[in-house]
Amino acid sequence: MVGTGMAKIIKVQCTGPGQHENEINLDDIIGSDVVIYGGPIATGRDLPARVVRRCDICDQGKVIITREMIEENL
Ligand SMILES: [Zn+2]
Repeated sequence: MVGTGMAKIIKVQCTGPGQHENEINLDDIIGSDVVIYGGPIATGRDLPARVVRRCDICDQGKVIITREMIEENL
């Protein structure tokens, strides 16, 4: 488990035509149930380079969270 109990939420727009704003819980990202592209980067912390999730609202959109976005919000 990651974190101290305080959920970190970041808002990311999906890539679909609706550009829906998804609230992403970083605990979910760093935890399981994610698709990882590029493999983990050795930072001492086990952060994925890039995480892609389905949009919560539409079927076409993807929500892409980069490692930079994760690190900025840790
Ligand atoms: Zn969407």
